[in-house]
Amino acid sequence: MINPDLIRKLEDTIQNVPDFPKPGIQFKDITPIFLDPKLYEEVIQDLANFSRGKIDAVCGIESRGYLFGIAIAVALEVPFVLIRKKGKLPPPFIAEKYELEYGSEEIEMRTGQIKPGQRILVHDDLLATGGTTEAAAKLVQKQGAIVSQFSFLIGLKGMDGEERLKQFNAPVHKILEY
Ligand code: AMP
Repeated sequence: MINPDLIRKLEDTIQNVPDFPKPGIQFKDITPIFLDPKLYEEVIQDLANFSRGKIDAVCGIESRGYLFGIAIAVALEVPFVLIRKKGKLPPPFIAEKYELEYGSEEIEMRTGQIKPGQRILVHDDLLATGGTTEAAAKLVQKQGAIVSQFSFLIGLKGMDGEERLKQFNAPVHKILEY
């Protein structure tokens, strides 16, 4: 599912911001994609094609996972469920903690919005260490649903993100890698 034309357009559009938000981080700014509706549509088509006929719902990770995740869900006519950072959702919800380089983070999901046995796409804009996505996938499993697929616009090489997702035994799609 490699799309060389789309990869080239995205490489020309996504901006690399060195040393943001911390020294040593190469921040990938995806916001210029939204200035080009045709390109945005191509991104959604690519991501939707990967998941078409294979999922029952999309779970998107706050906040950039919403920017594409909702459009994927609409294109495939399946529900979209938000995975939020701690403290934003009213009860009932379940939570999953995960470790960061310094300290820890927690994400939450309303209970009852995905159903046991449903095939779920877990989506975010970018896969780095995989910590956030791993925690999101655990929230899906805790509710008896099946982690069927992962998709991202960008995968960062050398960060072992994909290695961390192997435990879920689900295909991983990244449009491009850096
Ligand atoms: P991780 O849990 O390490 O896979 O980090 C993934 C999350 O952090 C995603 O929600 C990304 O939006 C964000 N992120 C991590 N590294 C970068 C980066 N270099 N540029 C932009 N966003 C990043």
